[in-house]
Amino acid sequence: MNHLVPFVHNLPNDNESAWLSILRTAMPKMDIRPIRDISEKDRNSVEVAIVANPAPADLSALPNLKWIQSLWAGVEKLLGELPDDQIAIVRLIDPQLAETMAEAVLAWTLYLHRNMPKYAMQQTQREWKQHDVLMASERTIGILGLGHLGKKSANRLHQNGFKVVGWSRSAKKLPGVETFNGDSGLLEIAKQVDIIVVLLPSTPQTRGLLEHHFFENMKPGASLINFARADIINADALTKGLEDRRIEHAVLDVFLNEPLPKTDPLWNNPHVTVLPHISAPTNMHTASQIVAENLLTYFTSKEIPLAVSRQDGY
Ligand code: NAP
Repeated sequence: MNHLVPFVHNLPNDNESAWLSILRTAMPKMDIRPIRDISEKDRNSVEVAIVANPAPADLSALPNLKWIQSLWAGVEKLLGELPDDQIAIVRLIDPQLAETMAEAVLAWTLYLHRNMPKYAMQQTQREWKQHDVLMASERTIGILGLGHLGKKSANRLHQNGFKVVGWSRSAKKLPGVETFNGDSGLLEIAKQVDIIVVLLPSTPQTRGLLEHHFFENMKPGASLINFARADIINADALTKGLEDRRIEHAVLDVFLNEPLPKTDPLWNNPHVTVLPHISAPTNMHTASQIVAENLLTYFTSKEIPLAVSRQDGY
């Protein structure tokens, strides 16, 4: 029997077709359909759905839903919109996504390390001015969040010769990375780093975590890369840090409002690089394989893959 699995999303039509085609190829024995193509009667038999920014009302139309498999790594929106803790939320954990993120972290760390924003600005003024070239080992890079993405990124930076420090909720041991935790650990990281990279989830504990005190404790001239979620950084503290030049440059991939409104002053700030949420997009092919494995395990053994902790918010 082919298991019926709804695909519940708010994606544009061409994106839906691309996902359906790849998901169906990865799971030829499952009947994957957009929720609108499933009758009310058949919805009663559904135990698991594949989701990408689902409308909560669509999920409530599945009375026997036990778990959802998200196609994204971040789950703060799902956790906010689905207070029903009877439905387990499984997020995407894809080694390829971690590789892509590690590559992005290395790329934009090198961009800051080799003063590319400064040279881009100088070129607009036809200014010929050389800045010191430091060795990678003379720069300390801090990674906030040492999960699937942070660990791989820390390792990639270490391999590239940078001094790497990292911060997480629980104590960790990582080769080549000095690790910290707790409030005192966060402050220690602020003091040490030349570049801070944010790879934390957005949770009640991390929202607004990087505020004035954090930036005031950073070395003047340190830079910031946010590849996680915008609300982890207090917006006023970021603005002030950039104005006071405590933050030399900020590479921002995530914003409170996306797309970033055309009127937002960040677009014209020469000390900010705006990226359109592109540091580590989900790869449809590898993600579909992970989803296929999770669904197959469930339909064979009724075992739900490791779900997000509602208490911890990630
Ligand atoms: P993850 O595996 O869940 O790791 C989260 C890390 O953050 C863990 O090391 C965790 O500590 C730490 N952490 C959580 N709460 C903390 C707290 N209160 N204090 C200190 N450390 C805390 O997550 P991931 O897969 O690496 O993904 C991280 C985030 O990246 C996602 O939530 C998503 O928002 C974002 N993301 C962005 C993009 C993009 O394109 N911009 C793409 C994918 C993901 P423990 O290890 O002790 O649990």
